[in-house]
Amino acid sequence: MYYCLMGPPGVGKGTQAVFLSEKYGLEHISTGNLLREAVRQKTKLGLQAQNYMNQGLLVPDNLMIALVEEVFQKGFILDGFPRTVPQAEALDSLVKRKGLALDQVILLTLDEEELVKRLTGRRVAPKSGRVYHLYFSPPKKEGVCDETGEPLIQREDDKLEIVRPRLQRYFVEQSPLTAYYKEKGLIREISAEGSPEEVRQRLEECLKKN
Ligand code: AMP
Repeated sequence: MYYCLMGPPGVGKGTQAVFLSEKYGLEHISTGNLLREAVRQKTKLGLQAQNYMNQGLLVPDNLMIALVEEVFQKGFILDGFPRTVPQAEALDSLVKRKGLALDQVILLTLDEEELVKRLTGRRVAPKSGRVYHLYFSPPKKEGVCDETGEPLIQREDDKLEIVRPRLQRYFVEQSPLTAYYKEKGLIREISAEGSPEEVRQRLEECLKKN
């Protein structure tokens, strides 16, 4: 099974991707996580990507396409890729070269104000990779990770001054991508309103129909 999970920053792609990967035994490829790890390890890619990421800008297509080609495996859920039409075209030729096809492209949707709330309240533990939310899923002890005890941080691109323009750019960039997959009949739109559990149920219903 080959799925892409698209949707605005803060919509809950990461949360749902973890669910799908566990349930269907798919590899979860989050381009955002791969990039953050590259930044932490100060690799060549990390150094090139860091400035774009901190400002909430997309990392250039050539870097992203090279990254995805490298990690491409059997059966995956791609979270956060493609984000532009050139990336979608590159993914098409990549799967074709391997004699495969995308099953479905899932687009999670949510109202802008709700996205702002989800993004600005997000806190992450860089080492364990666990993600918390100040209101929706706070850690047991304020400010530290339940698993490792490390201090939680706010991603640079989750700060309010970055979030607003980041969302504006998302809506502009997403629209040709949605059109691209609509034309191929691959896209399914799912509302990301409500709890992770509610979204998970909607997602499962949608996959069953496939
Ligand atoms: P995410 O964790 O998915 O919100 O991604 C965090 C940041 O990583 C984005 O704001 C971009 O700077 C970069 N990024 C992740 N995936 C892509 C992609 N497919 N194309 C370009 N930039 C990306």
